Amino acid sequence: MNTKMLTTSMSSSSVETTLRALCAPISVLSALCLFLSLSATAQISANTADFMGPEAAKTKMRLVLQEATRQSQGGLEKNALQRGRLFVNLLEKDAAIVALALPAGGSANQFLATFPIDNFRELPVDALAKEALQDLTRMADKLKDSAAKTPDWCKALPRTEYKELQRVLPDETWFEVYKVAPQTFAIYEPHQSEETIAYLIVGTKQAVLFDTGMGIADIQKVVRRLTSRPIVVLNSHTHDDHVGDNWRFPFVFGMDTEFTRKNAKGSVEDARAEIASSEICGDLPKGFDPKTYRTKPWHISITIHDGFKVNLGGRIVEVIATPGHTPDAIALFDRANGLLFTGDTYYPAPIWLFRPETDLDAYDASIKKLAALAPQVKMVLGAHNVPVASPDVLPELVTAFEAVRAGKVPAGEPHDGKVIYKTGRFSFLMKPAK
Ligand SMILES: [Zn+2]
Repeated sequence: MNTKMLTTSMSSSSVETTLRALCAPISVLSALCLFLSLSATAQISANTADFMGPEAAKTKMRLVLQEATRQSQGGLEKNALQRGRLFVNLLEKDAAIVALALPAGGSANQFLATFPIDNFRELPVDALAKEALQDLTRMADKLKDSAAKTPDWCKALPRTEYKELQRVLPDETWFEVYKVAPQTFAIYEPHQSEETIAYLIVGTKQAVLFDTGMGIADIQKVVRRLTSRPIVVLNSHTHDDHVGDNWRFPFVFGMDTEFTRKNAKGSVEDARAEIASSEICGDLPKGFDPKTYRTKPWHISITIHDGFKVNLGGRIVEVIATPGHTPDAIALFDRANGLLFTGDTYYPAPIWLFRPETDLDAYDASIKKLAALAPQVKMVLGAHNVPVASPDVLPELVTAFEAVRAGKVPAGEPHDGKVIYKTGRFSFLMKPAK
């Protein structure tokens, strides 16, 4: 059958969304049963359709699926169907869709086959049914292969914490956007291993975009859907996974450090490593070209410092210098609303403290500075994995880190020149002690 196979790049289409909503809780056979019971009223013989218009195609599609169900009672096809959920839907215009969804890496991965109406015009029902089953078997195998290649970190997704959050712009495919507080949005990149989170903080006159993500998809487009106000970019620090789309914005405020100026020149190697197959979960965005991907240089409009304030109109965010992870690391504090954006100084995953630009004494001082703010904080918003934590993580982070430095926490096995120290809900990825 001349079907067109579409992978998860189509997964956010409204068709799929509808299908998922309709069929998600339903098993293969009951989905078919449901479908077939809905179609039972259609009794027009497909053979009588001289002109295969949408109605006739729908009817024939139903007969094809009925026959496919009958044929699938044995053999390979049955296995293919039983490994996942078969969703069926009929497009209004010129094609029908069959979707096979299989759980892969924690999230349901879908293959959609579209059947152009022409297919229904000539071939008999039983031949079409047989071919449809073969297509679905092939798709199931392909999906199984890709699931086998899924990196471990990807299998842990989606993270359960996100269920509690309010998702907005659900049609975005690369980014997931969550409204975490009034006029405050977390822009999460779950398809890349860093699971970077940028934040849009909106006032009545302007907005701050705190980090610009990987630069794999266009974050400016997403931000423009959330606010029409002028945007100032501030970076939690200038590692490649936080500055990827800086170049798209005319106003980027930067810390006055050599490290910042060097990174503002862009880079190729770090960016390339971020898109190795082990680092990607699902599909890269449509039109993304891995050959030209790099961290593009950007221009620093003005330099900022500890205590620098940005007035957004009815809302002020304050820069808190938190050197340690990098020399230019900052936190942003929306004091009136109790929101503390911690960048890579704190997030609920192993904190990277092994790079040459990391300074452990400075880090220790910075987390103490943040812990002192804890009584004024309602929500801690880190830059990776999960956007919302309670303020008690701040003093606990100090205790955990000092225990590590005092040698009270056993080191994990060295791996790749790094060791992990785990204590309570915190972990730190560091250079092995000498
Ligand atoms: Zn970083």
